[in-house]
Amino acid sequence: MSKLQFDEAICAKCTTYDCLIKCQYMDFDLEKAKEERWKLIKGQNSFVLKDCVTCYACEEYCPYNNHPFYHIVEQQEKFDIHPVPRPLEKAQVAMMEPNHRIEQKKLTEPVINMCVFSMLKSAIRGKLFQDASVIMGRDIFCNLMYLHFARNSTIAERLPKIIDNITTYYLKPNNIKELVCYHDECYGTYTSWAPAFGIEVPFKPVHLFDYLYSKLLELKSDIKPLNLKVAYHRNCSTRLIPETEHFVNDIFSLIGVTRAKREYDYENALCCGAVFEAQQRFELAEKIQDKIVEDLKASGVSHCVYNCPMCFFTLAEKVSKAGIIPVMMSDLCQQALGE
Ligand code: SF4
Ligand code: SF4
Repeated sequence: MSKLQFDEAICAKCTTYDCLIKCQYMDFDLEKAKEERWKLIKGQNSFVLKDCVTCYACEEYCPYNNHPFYHIVEQQEKFDIHPVPRPLEKAQVAMMEPNHRIEQKKLTEPVINMCVFSMLKSAIRGKLFQDASVIMGRDIFCNLMYLHFARNSTIAERLPKIIDNITTYYLKPNNIKELVCYHDECYGTYTSWAPAFGIEVPFKPVHLFDYLYSKLLELKSDIKPLNLKVAYHRNCSTRLIPETEHFVNDIFSLIGVTRAKREYDYENALCCGAVFEAQQRFELAEKIQDKIVEDLKASGVSHCVYNCPMCFFTLAEKVSKAGIIPVMMSDLCQQALGE
């Protein structure tokens, strides 16, 4: 039975309460942050559970990796708090259930896990993905999005079977040990959420940017520097895996791209707003999206780079209207290779 490894002794020694002090969607001074965090630790209700917009950022803010956001989700579920209206939640949980259509198939490395983003399969092309095999579908859907729905229990119930499906049907029969995760959410599932809940992952997850960076190094002589000034939009799942953040700048320096200085970047990044819309916080979504677009305009970038398809779909129209080109990271790398 999986259980969150949250250590209240670590919080007892904490002097900063960064998990709440740095929250961009609620205001705290140190005393208030301490009071509300300890209410949560003691299993009491707090306004934090209702007001949390589930941006995941406190997972990054905690300097001790003590999983404050996963703990919030545990408490939301315990107090029957539903950040997304129940009919929507119910429909999403039912829609994304495994559909038991998985079959063994012959795969060659690298194996790219597209999760449920089958509509982006054509992104896996060209020199960067030569000989790659693609796997996807509900039977290997990581389920991590249920963090937005206060449902750690759904992830915990489904994930062991998902991991088993990937291993039994795809990796083991082909003697493959590594899985390249196209989306941060899958990589975050296997390297952050699963270990936090004591779930074993028997394969090696590789972040897409790690993979792209290594391939670009191999193909260095084919790269034509793009000479662009761009912005990078962090998605919520990157908050679970901040150790991968350096690959963005590593890739940009290889392909001749400069990451513009912006107010809402790095730790200060803002959520795309898709989740706020699902939570019916439409005014907040609008306000945050306007802030993102104004920040992009002020930075003078020509492109805004995404890795999360959901962020791309949510922001592409507004960003394009501002005269900025939205582009997925893998597409930008392909452009640098003249493809
Ligand atoms: S979760 Fe992390 S940042 Fe928050 S009080 Fe505990 S140790 Fe401090
Ligand atoms: S998930 Fe985001 S909104 Fe919720 S408490 Fe953490 S930082 Fe604040």
